[in-house]
Amino acid sequence: MTLINPLQFTAHEFADRMYAVCGRGRAQALALYQCFIREGQVRDTLPQFRNAPHLYEQMRQTIKVDIDPVTLIQSTERATKFLMKTHDGYLVESVIMSMQSRKSLCVSSQIGCRMACAFCHTGQMGFKRHLGPEEIVQQMFAARHVLKSSIQNVVFMGMGEPFDNFESVMQAVRVLADPLSFGIGLRRITISTSGDIQGIKTMTRDERPLPNLAVSLGAPTDAIRSKIMPRRRAEPLHDLYTAMYDYCRTKKRQILVSYVLLSDVNDSLECAEQLAIYLKGLDVRVNVIPYNASPESAFACPSQEAITAFVSRLRHHALPVFVRHERGSSIQAACGQLGG
Ligand code: SF4
Repeated sequence: MTLINPLQFTAHEFADRMYAVCGRGRAQALALYQCFIREGQVRDTLPQFRNAPHLYEQMRQTIKVDIDPVTLIQSTERATKFLMKTHDGYLVESVIMSMQSRKSLCVSSQIGCRMACAFCHTGQMGFKRHLGPEEIVQQMFAARHVLKSSIQNVVFMGMGEPFDNFESVMQAVRVLADPLSFGIGLRRITISTSGDIQGIKTMTRDERPLPNLAVSLGAPTDAIRSKIMPRRRAEPLHDLYTAMYDYCRTKKRQILVSYVLLSDVNDSLECAEQLAIYLKGLDVRVNVIPYNASPESAFACPSQEAITAFVSRLRHHALPVFVRHERGSSIQAACGQLGG
Protein backbone atom coordinates (compact mmCIF):
# COMPACT_ATOMS: atom_id res chain seq x y z
CA MET A 1 0.00 0.00 0.00
CA THR A 2 1.29 3.45 -0.93
CA LEU A 3 1.84 5.65 2.11
CA ILE A 4 2.41 9.40 1.88
CA ASN A 5 4.22 11.49 4.47
CA PRO A 6 2.85 15.07 4.23
CA LEU A 7 6.08 16.51 5.66
CA GLN A 8 7.95 15.36 2.58
CA PHE A 9 5.87 17.40 0.13
CA THR A 10 4.51 20.84 -0.61
CA ALA A 11 0.72 21.11 -0.43
CA HIS A 12 0.20 20.67 -4.17
CA GLU A 13 2.71 17.83 -4.43
CA PHE A 14 0.85 16.11 -1.60
CA ALA A 15 -2.52 16.66 -3.32
CA ASP A 16 -1.15 15.26 -6.60
CA ARG A 17 0.11 12.14 -4.88
CA MET A 18 -3.11 11.68 -2.96
CA TYR A 19 -5.04 12.09 -6.22
CA ALA A 20 -2.85 9.42 -7.84
CA VAL A 21 -3.76 7.00 -5.03
CA CYS A 22 -7.45 7.85 -4.59
CA GLY A 23 -8.37 8.90 -8.13
CA ARG A 24 -10.20 12.01 -6.88
CA GLY A 25 -10.27 14.61 -4.15
CA ARG A 26 -7.38 16.93 -4.99
CA ALA A 27 -9.09 19.91 -3.29
CA GLN A 28 -9.98 17.85 -0.24
CA ALA A 29 -6.40 16.59 -0.02
CA LEU A 30 -5.21 20.20 0.09
CA ALA A 31 -7.58 20.89 2.99
CA LEU A 32 -6.36 17.78 4.81
CA TYR A 33 -2.73 18.81 4.32
CA GLN A 34 -3.29 22.33 5.59
CA CYS A 35 -5.18 21.10 8.61
CA PHE A 36 -2.38 18.65 9.44
CA ILE A 37 0.34 21.29 9.19
CA ARG A 38 -1.71 23.88 11.10
CA GLU A 39 -2.96 21.65 13.91
CA GLY A 40 -0.26 18.99 14.02
CA GLN A 41 -2.68 16.10 13.73
CA VAL A 42 -5.20 14.45 11.45
CA ARG A 43 -8.68 15.33 12.66
CA ASP A 44 -11.48 12.77 12.91
CA THR A 45 -13.59 14.76 10.48
CA LEU A 46 -13.18 17.71 8.14
CA PRO A 47 -16.02 19.77 6.65
CA GLN A 48 -14.57 19.36 3.15
CA PHE A 49 -15.28 15.62 3.40
CA ARG A 50 -18.87 15.91 4.70
CA ASN A 51 -20.21 14.18 1.61
CA ALA A 52 -17.26 11.89 1.09
CA PRO A 53 -16.61 9.89 4.29
CA HIS A 54 -15.12 6.95 2.38
CA LEU A 55 -12.67 9.22 0.60
CA TYR A 56 -11.65 10.72 3.94
CA GLU A 57 -11.04 7.28 5.38
CA GLN A 58 -8.99 6.29 2.35
CA MET A 59 -6.86 9.44 2.64
CA ARG A 60 -6.41 9.02 6.38
CA GLN A 61 -5.15 5.50 5.83
CA THR A 62 -2.79 6.71 3.10
CA ILE A 63 -1.16 9.35 5.29
CA LYS A 64 1.98 8.26 7.07
CA VAL A 65 2.32 10.31 10.22
CA ASP A 66 4.74 8.44 12.43
CA ILE A 67 6.30 11.50 14.03
CA ASP A 68 9.53 10.80 15.88
CA PRO A 69 9.18 11.70 19.53
CA VAL A 70 11.12 14.58 21.05
CA THR A 71 13.43 12.79 23.47
CA LEU A 72 15.17 15.67 25.21
CA ILE A 73 14.55 19.34 25.70
CA GLN A 74 17.07 21.66 27.33
CA SER A 75 16.45 25.37 27.68
CA THR A 76 18.20 28.54 28.66
CA GLU A 77 16.69 31.99 28.51
CA ARG A 78 17.56 32.44 24.86
CA ALA A 79 17.95 28.95 23.42
CA THR A 80 16.08 25.65 23.50
CA LYS A 81 17.81 22.56 22.22
CA PHE A 82 15.72 19.50 21.41
CA LEU A 83 16.54 16.03 20.19
CA MET A 84 14.46 13.63 18.16
CA LYS A 85 15.19 9.95 17.73
CA THR A 86 14.95 8.71 14.14
CA HIS A 87 13.36 5.37 13.17
CA ASP A 88 16.88 3.85 12.97
CA GLY A 89 17.97 5.11 16.37
CA TYR A 90 19.99 8.25 15.60
CA LEU A 91 19.49 11.57 17.37
CA VAL A 92 18.69 14.70 15.39
CA GLU A 93 19.53 17.95 17.17
CA SER A 94 17.76 21.26 16.61
CA VAL A 95 17.88 24.59 18.43
CA ILE A 96 15.32 27.36 18.81
CA MET A 97 17.05 30.69 19.33
CA SER A 98 15.22 33.75 20.62
CA MET A 99 16.28 37.16 19.38
CA GLN A 100 14.21 40.10 20.57
CA SER A 101 10.69 39.17 19.59
CA ARG A 102 11.75 36.71 16.87
CA LYS A 103 12.49 33.03 17.01
CA SER A 104 14.83 31.20 14.67
CA LEU A 105 15.03 27.47 14.28
CA CYS A 106 18.44 25.98 13.56
CA VAL A 107 17.89 22.67 11.77
CA SER A 108 20.15 19.71 11.03
CA SER A 109 20.46 18.27 7.54
CA GLN A 110 22.56 15.19 8.32
CA ILE A 111 23.40 12.86 11.18
CA GLY A 112 27.04 13.75 11.74
CA CYS A 113 29.06 15.38 8.98
CA ARG A 114 31.83 14.41 6.56
CA MET A 115 33.58 17.77 6.78
CA ALA A 116 35.41 17.07 10.03
CA CYS A 117 35.92 20.73 10.93
CA ALA A 118 38.26 20.66 13.91
CA PHE A 119 36.25 23.18 15.97
CA CYS A 120 32.92 21.39 15.55
CA HIS A 121 31.45 18.55 17.65
CA THR A 122 29.39 17.29 14.74
CA GLY A 123 32.52 17.13 12.60
CA GLN A 124 34.23 15.03 15.25
CA MET A 125 31.45 12.42 15.35
CA GLY A 126 31.91 11.51 11.66
CA PHE A 127 29.20 11.04 9.06
CA LYS A 128 26.30 8.67 9.74
CA ARG A 129 23.68 9.47 7.11
CA HIS A 130 21.70 12.14 5.29
CA LEU A 131 18.33 13.27 6.58
CA GLY A 132 15.38 13.04 4.21
CA PRO A 133 13.31 16.18 3.53
CA GLU A 134 10.59 14.92 5.85
CA GLU A 135 13.12 14.50 8.68
CA ILE A 136 14.31 18.07 8.17
CA VAL A 137 10.77 19.48 8.03
CA GLN A 138 9.84 17.40 11.06
CA GLN A 139 12.18 19.56 13.15
CA MET A 140 9.97 22.53 12.28
CA PHE A 141 6.85 20.48 12.96
CA ALA A 142 8.15 19.57 16.42
CA ALA A 143 9.16 23.16 17.19
CA ARG A 144 5.69 24.33 16.33
CA HIS A 145 3.50 21.55 17.68
CA VAL A 146 5.52 19.96 20.50
CA LEU A 147 7.41 22.97 21.81
CA LYS A 148 4.58 25.37 20.82
CA SER A 149 7.07 27.82 19.40
CA SER A 150 6.16 30.20 16.66
CA ILE A 151 9.17 30.27 14.34
CA GLN A 152 9.90 33.16 11.97
CA ASN A 153 13.30 32.13 10.58
CA VAL A 154 14.96 28.85 9.68
CA VAL A 155 18.72 28.43 9.41
CA PHE A 156 20.49 25.31 8.15
CA MET A 157 23.32 25.60 10.66
CA GLY A 158 22.75 22.45 12.73
CA MET A 159 24.40 19.09 12.16
CA GLY A 160 25.69 18.52 8.64
CA GLU A 161 26.87 20.28 5.51
CA PRO A 162 23.59 21.15 3.73
CA PHE A 163 25.08 21.10 0.21
CA ASP A 164 26.28 17.55 0.83
CA ASN A 165 22.58 16.63 0.96
CA PHE A 166 21.47 19.12 -1.68
CA GLU A 167 18.24 17.62 -3.04
CA SER A 168 16.73 16.83 0.36
CA VAL A 169 17.64 20.27 1.71
CA MET A 170 16.13 22.05 -1.29
CA GLN A 171 12.95 19.99 -1.07
CA ALA A 172 12.71 20.78 2.67
CA VAL A 173 13.14 24.48 1.83
CA ARG A 174 10.28 24.27 -0.68
CA VAL A 175 8.01 22.67 1.92
CA LEU A 176 8.94 25.17 4.64
CA ALA A 177 8.41 28.11 2.28
CA ASP A 178 5.13 26.90 0.79
CA PRO A 179 2.39 29.40 1.81
CA LEU A 180 -0.04 26.46 2.19
CA SER A 181 2.47 24.75 4.48
CA PHE A 182 4.61 26.50 7.10
CA GLY A 183 4.84 29.65 4.98
CA ILE A 184 8.33 30.71 6.07
CA GLY A 185 9.37 33.20 3.37
CA LEU A 186 12.49 32.27 1.39
CA ARG A 187 14.15 35.47 2.62
CA ARG A 188 13.75 34.05 6.13
CA ILE A 189 15.47 30.77 5.34
CA THR A 190 19.26 30.57 5.26
CA ILE A 191 21.42 27.72 4.02
CA SER A 192 24.85 27.78 5.58
CA THR A 193 27.67 25.95 3.82
CA SER A 194 31.23 25.39 4.93
CA GLY A 195 32.26 26.56 1.45
CA ASP A 196 30.98 23.87 -0.93
CA ILE A 197 31.90 25.44 -4.26
CA GLN A 198 29.76 23.11 -6.37
CA GLY A 199 26.75 23.83 -4.15
CA ILE A 200 27.23 27.60 -4.52
CA LYS A 201 27.55 27.20 -8.30
CA THR A 202 24.38 25.11 -8.42
CA MET A 203 22.51 27.80 -6.48
CA THR A 204 23.89 30.42 -8.88
CA ARG A 205 22.57 28.49 -11.90
CA ASP A 206 19.18 27.77 -10.31
CA GLU A 207 16.59 30.15 -11.72
CA ARG A 208 13.94 29.51 -9.09
CA PRO A 209 13.54 31.83 -6.07
CA LEU A 210 16.18 30.95 -3.52
CA PRO A 211 16.76 31.13 0.22
CA ASN A 212 19.65 33.15 1.65
CA LEU A 213 23.19 31.85 1.44
CA ALA A 214 25.69 31.85 4.28
CA VAL A 215 29.29 30.70 3.93
CA SER A 216 31.34 29.63 6.91
CA LEU A 217 34.85 30.69 5.99
CA GLY A 218 36.92 29.59 8.96
CA ALA A 219 40.11 31.38 7.98
CA PRO A 220 41.47 34.00 5.57
CA THR A 221 44.32 31.82 4.24
CA ASP A 222 44.43 28.32 2.78
CA ALA A 223 47.13 27.33 5.25
CA ILE A 224 45.01 28.02 8.35
CA ARG A 225 41.79 26.91 6.73
CA SER A 226 43.08 23.50 5.74
CA LYS A 227 44.18 22.90 9.32
CA ILE A 228 40.78 23.62 10.84
CA MET A 229 38.58 22.61 7.87
CA PRO A 230 40.56 19.69 6.44
CA ARG A 231 37.98 18.55 3.88
CA ARG A 232 38.09 21.95 2.21
CA ARG A 233 41.79 21.55 1.39
CA ALA A 234 41.00 20.64 -2.22
CA GLU A 235 38.93 23.79 -2.69
CA PRO A 236 41.23 26.80 -2.40
CA LEU A 237 39.92 30.12 -1.16
CA HIS A 238 40.59 31.64 -4.56
CA ASP A 239 38.05 29.27 -6.20
CA LEU A 240 35.60 29.88 -3.37
CA TYR A 241 35.93 33.63 -3.97
CA THR A 242 35.10 33.19 -7.66
CA ALA A 243 32.01 31.12 -6.82
CA MET A 244 30.81 33.70 -4.27
CA TYR A 245 31.54 36.57 -6.66
CA ASP A 246 29.50 34.92 -9.44
CA TYR A 247 26.66 34.24 -6.99
CA CYS A 248 26.50 37.86 -5.74
CA ARG A 249 26.70 39.27 -9.26
CA THR A 250 24.27 36.87 -10.95
CA LYS A 251 21.69 36.71 -8.17
CA LYS A 252 22.15 40.24 -6.92
CA ARG A 253 22.10 38.79 -3.44
CA GLN A 254 24.25 39.34 -0.41
CA ILE A 255 26.14 36.49 1.28
CA LEU A 256 26.42 36.14 5.02
CA VAL A 257 30.01 35.17 5.80
CA SER A 258 30.40 33.40 9.14
CA TYR A 259 33.78 33.41 10.82
CA VAL A 260 34.27 31.35 13.97
CA LEU A 261 36.90 33.15 16.00
CA LEU A 262 39.39 30.74 17.61
CA SER A 263 41.93 32.04 20.09
CA ASP A 264 45.49 32.07 18.68
CA VAL A 265 44.37 30.36 15.48
CA ASN A 266 42.51 32.91 13.37
CA ASP A 267 41.86 35.86 15.70
CA SER A 268 44.94 37.99 15.05
CA LEU A 269 44.88 41.45 13.53
CA GLU A 270 46.82 40.04 10.61
CA CYS A 271 43.98 37.55 10.01
CA ALA A 272 41.43 40.38 10.19
CA GLU A 273 43.44 42.32 7.62
CA GLN A 274 43.72 39.28 5.34
CA LEU A 275 40.01 38.58 5.72
CA ALA A 276 39.07 42.15 4.80
CA ILE A 277 41.30 42.02 1.72
CA TYR A 278 39.89 38.61 0.73
CA LEU A 279 36.28 39.84 0.92
CA LYS A 280 36.88 42.98 -1.16
CA GLY A 281 34.53 43.16 -4.14
CA LEU A 282 31.94 40.82 -2.60
CA ASP A 283 28.52 41.86 -1.34
CA VAL A 284 28.77 40.37 2.14
CA ARG A 285 27.90 40.84 5.76
CA VAL A 286 30.31 39.30 8.22
CA ASN A 287 29.07 37.36 11.22
CA VAL A 288 31.89 36.96 13.72
CA ILE A 289 31.18 34.06 16.08
CA PRO A 290 33.44 33.84 19.13
CA TYR A 291 34.15 30.13 19.67
CA ASN A 292 32.26 28.38 22.46
CA ALA A 293 34.78 26.20 24.25
CA SER A 294 33.72 23.13 26.23
CA PRO A 295 35.93 21.21 28.69
CA GLU A 296 37.10 18.78 25.98
CA SER A 297 37.68 21.43 23.31
CA ALA A 298 41.00 21.58 21.53
CA PHE A 299 40.49 25.33 21.02
CA ALA A 300 40.00 28.25 23.36
CA CYS A 301 37.55 31.17 23.32
CA PRO A 302 39.04 34.41 22.05
CA SER A 303 39.47 37.16 24.63
CA GLN A 304 37.10 40.13 24.60
CA GLU A 305 40.05 42.33 23.58
CA ALA A 306 40.82 40.07 20.61
CA ILE A 307 37.16 40.08 19.52
CA THR A 308 36.93 43.86 19.75
CA ALA A 309 40.20 44.42 17.88
CA PHE A 310 39.29 41.91 15.16
CA VAL A 311 35.88 43.47 14.56
CA SER A 312 37.28 47.01 14.59
CA ARG A 313 39.82 46.09 11.95
CA LEU A 314 37.10 44.68 9.69
CA ARG A 315 34.96 47.78 10.22
CA HIS A 316 37.96 49.94 9.42
CA HIS A 317 37.69 48.39 5.94
CA ALA A 318 34.00 49.41 5.80
CA LEU A 319 32.76 45.83 6.09
CA PRO A 320 29.35 45.37 7.70
CA VAL A 321 30.14 43.21 10.72
CA PHE A 322 28.15 41.89 13.63
CA VAL A 323 29.16 39.65 16.47
CA ARG A 324 26.87 36.76 17.24
CA HIS A 325 26.73 36.59 20.97
CA GLU A 326 26.55 33.18 22.56
CA ARG A 327 23.14 31.65 22.83
CA GLY A 328 22.87 28.32 24.49
CA SER A 329 26.51 27.51 25.07
CA SER A 330 25.66 26.14 28.53
CA ILE A 331 23.43 23.50 26.95
CA GLN A 332 25.84 22.75 24.11
CA ALA A 333 23.53 24.42 21.63
CA ALA A 334 25.82 27.12 20.35
CA CYS A 335 27.67 27.17 17.07
CA GLY A 336 29.87 24.12 16.60
CA GLN A 337 28.50 22.37 19.69
CA LEU A 338 25.77 20.18 18.25
CA GLY A 339 26.46 16.48 18.08
CA GLY A 340 28.19 16.54 21.44
S1 SF4 B 1 31.08 23.12 11.00
FE1 SF4 B 1 29.41 22.45 9.67
S2 SF4 B 1 30.49 21.57 7.90
FE2 SF4 B 1 32.01 21.69 9.52
S3 SF4 B 1 31.92 19.66 10.53
FE3 SF4 B 1 30.52 21.03 11.63
S4 SF4 B 1 28.52 20.67 10.73
FE4 SF4 B 1 30.06 19.88 9.29
